[in-house]
Amino acid sequence: MFTTYTIDQEMIRDSNQKKILQLLQKRRELTKQEMSQILGLSIPTIATNTNILIAEGLLEEGGIGDSSGGRKPVIIKFLPNARFSFGVDISSQRVRIILTNLDSEILASVEFIDLDFTNIELILQRIADHMTQMMMDLKIESKAVLGVGFSLPGTVDEELGILEMAPSLGLYKVPLQKQFQAYFSAPIYIENEANAAAFGELTLGIAQQMKNLVYLSVTHGIGAGIVIKGHLYKGKNKRAGEFGHMTLIPNGKQCKCGRNGCWELYASVQTLLSRYRASLKAESLPTSITLKSFFNDLAMGNSMARKVWDEYLDYLTTGIQNIILTLDPHYIVVGGDISLYEDYLLPDLQKKIFTPNAFYEEGDTSIVISTLKENATILGASLLPMKNLLFQNESIL
Ligand SMILES: [Zn+2]
Repeated sequence: MFTTYTIDQEMIRDSNQKKILQLLQKRRELTKQEMSQILGLSIPTIATNTNILIAEGLLEEGGIGDSSGGRKPVIIKFLPNARFSFGVDISSQRVRIILTNLDSEILASVEFIDLDFTNIELILQRIADHMTQMMMDLKIESKAVLGVGFSLPGTVDEELGILEMAPSLGLYKVPLQKQFQAYFSAPIYIENEANAAAFGELTLGIAQQMKNLVYLSVTHGIGAGIVIKGHLYKGKNKRAGEFGHMTLIPNGKQCKCGRNGCWELYASVQTLLSRYRASLKAESLPTSITLKSFFNDLAMGNSMARKVWDEYLDYLTTGIQNIILTLDPHYIVVGGDISLYEDYLLPDLQKKIFTPNAFYEEGDTSIVISTLKENATILGASLLPMKNLLFQNESIL
């Protein structure tokens, strides 16, 4: 009984500390009296926990507050640069690394290409070298680093730290956490890229107020994260939301996942660009086509660009309609590379998704663009090491 009591006490204190930190992160500075009023905790409880957080270097006393008489209260301030976190986004095209503070401000960012995934150890070593350099450049000590959050384009077992499978990288059953620990000593967290992005949107972005949503990452593949009542839904085998591999075309193109006709083979950014390249073969330099140049051509009224775009949107739309019919979410949040071209994407998508049907009409589900844009995934990854410090509940179902 005694043991249970002690654990309970610790949990309460821990949760009170989180409440104080969260409040101060939002309000930046408050007196203990103000915190006591807002949080409904006694002044001694606030004082005890605040002192612990000051000793941890997360808060500081600074300045004197207003007083209506008597002793003037001390102001307690939040220190956003007390701790730091790394986010790493690994995709088939590039590796990107960011260093953030507790406010999720990106203080440094590095990326590299030329990736050979048959030698994942070498890639992990390069990531660790970059991180060490970033810490040296910003004069950040190891003890101030909360950890490293990885975003990966595949299914993961986040508890065991294993990348289960990432067909686009040709990687299966990689004990990533263990391997990376050999190069960089800090707590390591891993997450699927779309789940990381959904977590980023839920914590920092558009989804803070949205409770039921599907985050769609449309880049070189298509990933999705499902949020139900503010919790990330991952399913029994942690692969819920693999919409990118639902069958769009029976007996369609062969996918690296072993199935045929997967949605992402028809609606990824890569497909859009390769179809446009193929259509231009005779008249232009196909290799110079980028997403930016494609949308430039579209804006200039290029009829081939328009044709490819319309076909592409039909595929993208069909998948989204299937998701709406399956989950009936409040919101579909579109992120990833395609979300940078909101002005082209959103009006066309709205029109196509809500063509008259028996089930839903415009307004039943809102189609919105990620506010964190191309940073949703990596910011979500960098938030993973902060969970224990700043978040009240595990947001995973
Ligand atoms: Zn597939």
